Amino acid sequence: MKKVPICLVLDDPTPGISVYYTHHNKTVTEDGRPILEYNPNSTLFRFCDIIEKYGIKGKFSVVPMPGNRGDIVNGIDGFPDEELKEWLNTVKKRVLPYFSVGPEMLTHNNAVDVTTDEMIPINECIWASDKDRTVLTPYITKAFSILKEAGLPSLGCTSPWSFGIEVEDEYVQSVSQAVYDVYGSSDCWYYLRGLRNTPNAKPWVEYDDGKCCVVSIPATTFDYIWDTIDTTDTSEKFICSIADKYITADGKGGDIVKVLESGGYPLFITHWQSLISNGLCTGMDVLELIAKRINEHLSDRVEWCSYEEIMQKVLADKKSYPKPKF
Ligand SMILES: [Zn+2]
Repeated sequence: MKKVPICLVLDDPTPGISVYYTHHNKTVTEDGRPILEYNPNSTLFRFCDIIEKYGIKGKFSVVPMPGNRGDIVNGIDGFPDEELKEWLNTVKKRVLPYFSVGPEMLTHNNAVDVTTDEMIPINECIWASDKDRTVLTPYITKAFSILKEAGLPSLGCTSPWSFGIEVEDEYVQSVSQAVYDVYGSSDCWYYLRGLRNTPNAKPWVEYDDGKCCVVSIPATTFDYIWDTIDTTDTSEKFICSIADKYITADGKGGDIVKVLESGGYPLFITHWQSLISNGLCTGMDVLELIAKRINEHLSDRVEWCSYEEIMQKVLADKKSYPKPKF
């Protein structure tokens, strides 16, 4: 039987500063604890231990100017430069062999004037909603350029929130142009859409003019690990209850299995803040249990793939990946 791609779609990783803290309009978790402003590098080391142990692959965002607090090349306010360097080196050595890295636009907070680096006092998702390619291309090009300068290769990006959804045709052209201008590739991917509870949910060719091709790779589950942010419960029972929503202990239930049985690709999403669980890293335990169950029960049906590997599969057989109706 031909194996189906499976991957972890990971949004919001940043060195040091938490973009969940900077863009969240509350300062405390649902159960009343202060939301942590910074994440230590030990959280990234823990994540790397897990992906290496289980061979997890997927998509890993890097927000280039996280929370309007500087950038990953010139430094982030309140986060030591040596730790920033260590974070980036760890991503290069330990994440890149497994994950496709890409910008999640510039700040995951307020928009930026790309000519001056000044903050525009409007959330970048709202800012993008009425822009065309003449404005979006330089914005997205800046995001890829910062990653390139930081030494990170990339052939695709993630929308913070639903960045670009209102002007998706313009957005797609801008991503294609930005990847071509910065990295010289005429093929690229982007992650914007969620296809949940949709039978046969797969990536698709969003744009193809015979020269340039853009592949849209969706997420096909919800982020249930998010619930670990708002509780101090780190019990095995709680961890199992979250993992069960993706794949049950017997490998027969959960959204990953449902997606697979409907003919789709299990592309399961979570967020950096979900894995860090406001400092308790309960989400890392959940991820580990999910991966263990996938490898135990589904290894004859699925293969871990990065976003670039999924993109290559789509490009090799474009006719099999038509755009779905929304
Ligand atoms: Zn995000």
